[in-house]
Amino acid sequence: MNLEFVKREQLKEKPQDETKLGFGKVFSDYMLMLRYDEAKGGWYEAKIEPFQNLSLSPASLVFHYAQECFEGMKAYKTADGEVMMFRPWDNIHRMNVSAERLCMAPIPEEFFLNAIYELIKVEKDWIPTTPGTSLYIRPTYIGIDPFVGVRAASQYMLYVILSPVGAYYASGLAPVSIYVESQYVRAVKGGTGYTKCGGNYAASLKAGEEAHQRGYSQVLWLDGRENKYIEEVGAMNIMFKINGEILTPELNGSILAGITRDSIIKLARKMGYTVTERRISMQEVADAAKNGTLEEVWGTGTAAVVSPVGELIWNGESIKVGDGGMGKLTEELYNTLTGIQYGRIADDMGWTIKL
Ligand SMILES: *Cc1c(COP(=O)(O)O)cnc(C)c1O
Repeated sequence: MNLEFVKREQLKEKPQDETKLGFGKVFSDYMLMLRYDEAKGGWYEAKIEPFQNLSLSPASLVFHYAQECFEGMKAYKTADGEVMMFRPWDNIHRMNVSAERLCMAPIPEEFFLNAIYELIKVEKDWIPTTPGTSLYIRPTYIGIDPFVGVRAASQYMLYVILSPVGAYYASGLAPVSIYVESQYVRAVKGGTGYTKCGGNYAASLKAGEEAHQRGYSQVLWLDGRENKYIEEVGAMNIMFKINGEILTPELNGSILAGITRDSIIKLARKMGYTVTERRISMQEVADAAKNGTLEEVWGTGTAAVVSPVGELIWNGESIKVGDGGMGKLTEELYNTLTGIQYGRIADDMGWTIKL
């Protein structure tokens, strides 16, 4: 399969003020589009083409049965104007893990990854340079057969769109208050919790809305069976520093294996911390806060990177973290990870690639 290039007549105007980018609102000139059809022998077309609306039958499977998964990663510009990506091969591999669970055709990982590199090179002028900004990359995979009946699709679109972004939270790196959800659940063992699929997000909206109405920015999910054990925060994994040790929920099948999570675990271990992946109950965290050993809490994810948590609300009780400000280790981990991503700190982990 060749990667074709379809030129745009006219390029869009780029955002003038990079401090007002927000997240996911502006899209670049081009997108990557791969097409699959069993009847045509599998993957049959790959194009870098103008960003444009899709034309699909209203009967397309994705609209009815949510056969869809996605990814999220970023391209960064270094101070020297070089273009960097962070562990993109892990995102593409994870996309295939999601695809497998959703009975979607396997993605040709190497071809897809190289095609993404080509897209980023074409669009490198869309990577913002103001500190903290980046080009968000959203691979999306959908089953499109025009057929209303429950089965796996035989035709697929796999595409990538790009969006220059600022900080994920408008409030910047200020600690957030998180609502611990005791009524709704996000995922259960045997379900799709470990995949990055739209269906998981649709199922999480109601809890998110209710938390917003109560004045909290995010929901912390507990396990779907006993409502006791900590899972993750919507689009972030979560970590606790208790009495000097870092704790994070183990990969149990119902949480996402975050690439930021994995990177932070490895960085913290390199810094000499003990990091333990295990089952953590909400009671344990509440007890740690009571006896003064709950030192820091933070979320990890590509969009928000490392995000300090200042307070958890559980069954109407407020659990305060440390002094409510950003923890020292949280800040150090944020600086180290973003340092590697933006090329300010040497990458001796083999995580980055210069395009
Ligand atoms: C994307 C995502 C994360 C974070 O994963 P990263 O690879 O670190 O970006 C965590 N939880 C969920 C549910 C996600 O969708």
